[in-house]
Amino acid sequence: MTSWWSRGKEPGAEEEAFQRRRRALLDEIQAEMADTARWTGRSALQPRVAEAVARVPRHAFVPEPEREAAYANRPLPIGWGQTISQPFIVAVMTDLLDPEPDDVVLELGTGSGYQAAVLSLLVKQVYSIEVVPELARGAARVLDRLGYRNVEVRAGDGAEGWPERAPFDKIIVTAVADEIPAALVDQLKPGGRLLMPVGDPGRQQLTLIDKRADGTTERREVLPVAFVPLRTGR
Ligand code: SAH
Repeated sequence: MTSWWSRGKEPGAEEEAFQRRRRALLDEIQAEMADTARWTGRSALQPRVAEAVARVPRHAFVPEPEREAAYANRPLPIGWGQTISQPFIVAVMTDLLDPEPDDVVLELGTGSGYQAAVLSLLVKQVYSIEVVPELARGAARVLDRLGYRNVEVRAGDGAEGWPERAPFDKIIVTAVADEIPAALVDQLKPGGRLLMPVGDPGRQQLTLIDKRADGTTERREVLPVAFVPLRTGR
């Protein structure tokens, strides 16, 4: 199968056009960072995070009919009633995680695999769990095709975390629930950080948990957000 992304090193005209759109999108994201700094305390993306957002081809993670809209700063449908998050949200969540090159990260809600791809450029290893098997398979396939080797995707309910791969330096949940599952906090390393939308589906706050060296936790709400619900008890 020959596609534009597998035609060797020479980026074609189409890839250059996508790159231009990606840079324009990054400008929009940086502007939104400035607009939301009163909540997040961050007025711009860290340079490493900005570079990762500039590199990951979001258009490869959306279904064909949505490809033209891939670099609009909004969520898009990916099937099975799910969405790929708005690029700003992916960027700000990645930034708030303070990803370090040696980090092992757990993601709940692989969806398209886009957030996992962005993280994979910034950390040592990403483990990602997706409850819809078709989405898990699709994401794993795209990640593999694009060469993101440090991401492992598993189909299943992530509410219990991934005990076999724990503990994690960082945990990111991209679906909302009214409480943070205790198993996730348990699987976080001391000094680690967890980020998850919490609340009613209509009234959600992106919530950040820092686990101190002594195992106690500190919690703060960072930003009003809108995520699809975390499915539980399947
Ligand atoms: N991070 C994704 C966006 C995910 S949308 C991206 O970059 O595209 C949220 C995803 O969480 C959906 O795909 C949904 O199926 C998944 N999800 C919901 N409940 C879940 C659960 N209990 N365990 C794992 N995944 C879950």
